[in-house]
Amino acid sequence: MIPQTLFKNARVLSPTGIYEPGWLLVEGREIASMGGGTPPAPLITEDVITIEANGWNLLPGFIDLHVHGALGHDTMDASVEGLQAISRHLAQHGVTSFLAATWTAPDEEINRALLTVGKVYGRIPGGATLLGAYLEGPYLNPNRAGAQAHESIRSAADHETAHHWIDDDMVRVVVLAPENPENLWLVEECAQKGITVAAGHTSATYDEMQVAVSRGVRHLTHCFNAMGVMHHRQPGAIGAGLTMPELRCELIADNIHVHPAVQKILYQAKGPYGMLLVSDCTRTTGMPDGEYDFDTRKVVVKDNIVRLGDGTLAGSRLALDQALRNFSANIRRPLSELWPVVTLTPARAIGIAHQKGVLEIGHDADLILLDDDLQVKLTMTEGSIVFQA
Ligand SMILES: [Zn+2]
Repeated sequence: MIPQTLFKNARVLSPTGIYEPGWLLVEGREIASMGGGTPPAPLITEDVITIEANGWNLLPGFIDLHVHGALGHDTMDASVEGLQAISRHLAQHGVTSFLAATWTAPDEEINRALLTVGKVYGRIPGGATLLGAYLEGPYLNPNRAGAQAHESIRSAADHETAHHWIDDDMVRVVVLAPENPENLWLVEECAQKGITVAAGHTSATYDEMQVAVSRGVRHLTHCFNAMGVMHHRQPGAIGAGLTMPELRCELIADNIHVHPAVQKILYQAKGPYGMLLVSDCTRTTGMPDGEYDFDTRKVVVKDNIVRLGDGTLAGSRLALDQALRNFSANIRRPLSELWPVVTLTPARAIGIAHQKGVLEIGHDADLILLDDDLQVKLTMTEGSIVFQA
């Protein structure tokens, strides 16, 4: 018999409106049915596990496209156990699927990381589903390296290596600096393969971004961070992100990387379908203050901020539940309006919205319950409860 789970007395955030109260039935790993009011009597049988939702919000699980690490582990460690631990940590924060982000490094290190993503790919017991890899570098602009290893940044002139990575089915997003003409062939190649191309760690001008978008760039990595500032006569990548409907903009909403007022500008320009929250979380996430390894260098965590020795910000300690709480407080908009920024919009960004990111019958039962303070009370990944507060 297929296991069934029934959520009742929930505030169901369906794509067509809110059921308050509402119910939702999960069969196996899929959403089977949902509706408003009390569940139809035939659904409540001994065989069905019933979850009293206390009027909490029931919505799709969070999708985090930009995850480097947590709990002392990093994607670049190329450790199966490490990725599994990261996945379970994410599930406690409402994340039901994610991409493991690599960073700029020598080829063999990126190869090892991608190989390990391939081994862990898919459902992870007790955790969030690993959907693939987010290749952040090496095809970046060294002048916008941020925390990326300067000496390993280069162009995509070596087609063979780039092909080796994108022919590997694990890569879902490639981040590059589109102002480098040697990177443009890769934009088209990825777009043809259905790999999302993001501009990031870039000094691209507005004109260069227009060319990039015409070639297939559709995404902006951590908008405002590691790109030129927006000047009223030189709008740059930020100006392109804010104005071009083709581009979805990532935001690290930890209130450290981007000022709350600027977060508001982004939302006002893009709305919930044009921007998405990412964590960009690092191995320091979920760990105490102190010094940690970061490629061959060290980072120091103090007052919730991760920095290299020279003061450069080096990712975050964020999880998407906290990001959503920050963002919602900053822009003063309700969950009923904001939910796509952590669910449907990231799903669309990597072409999986037919399966995840929205409560639809037949979609994966990736679900979370959030209370009125947006605290995660329960996480379900593909029909299995993986976290309960
Ligand atoms: Zn990153």
